[in-house]
Formats: sequence, structure tokens, C-alpha cells
Amino acid sequence: MAGLVKLYVAANTTDAHMLVALLAQEGIEAVVRGDGFVPLQGGHLFKMETRPSVWVLDDEHRPRAEALAEEFAHGGDTESGDEWRCRCGEQVEAQFSECWNCGRARPDAGT
Ligand SMILES: [Zn+2]
Repeated sequence: MAGLVKLYVAANTTDAHMLVALLAQEGIEAVVRGDGFVPLQGGHLFKMETRPSVWVLDDEHRPRAEALAEEFAHGGDTESGDEWRCRCGEQVEAQFSECWNCGRARPDAGT
């Protein structure tokens, strides 16, 4: 018996479709539904925000799908770089190659 199961509420449609694609790779059929129409705060109702959700078509696949959704949700926030600490003691963000405090170059990671 096939049952439509709500699996995941995505932050946006791109997110939702990425998860559907991921599930499809595992042979799990899923659909995106933009059923969560929420009026934005501030009094103007003509601007609507959608929170799309991902639904699994077959209840049988639910445990596997849930595991994948979990993985998906946590895999999305991989940190794109490490902060580094300068010899002067400052914590410097990864995108800077020099310390903003003393101007020293970023030490080589390999050495
Ligand atoms: Zn420094």
C-alpha cells in the first residue's frame, strides 16, 4: 500500500529539489509540494513565502528516506574554511590571507 509521507520541510525550493534528486538516486520516488503558504510579517498579504516540503510516495521507503533527509540536512552546513590563528593571537577568518591586526601572512598549513 502506497502512502504519501511528509518527509522534510525545506528552506526553499532549490533545497527541496536537491533532496528529491538525492532520493531519486537511491530509487526513492519523492515529490515537492509548496503547500506551506505563510504570509510574511508586516501586514502585506500579497507577498507570500513558500516553505516547500518533500513527500515520499511510498511509505515503505520512509526509513531510508528519513536517513537520507537527515544526512542531507546536516551535510548542507559543511564549513567552507577554517579560521586561523595568527601568532599575534588574533583569530582571522579563512578568506583572509593576512592578519588584519598585525599584517602577518597566513602561516602555511602544510608546515
Ligand atoms: Zn596578527
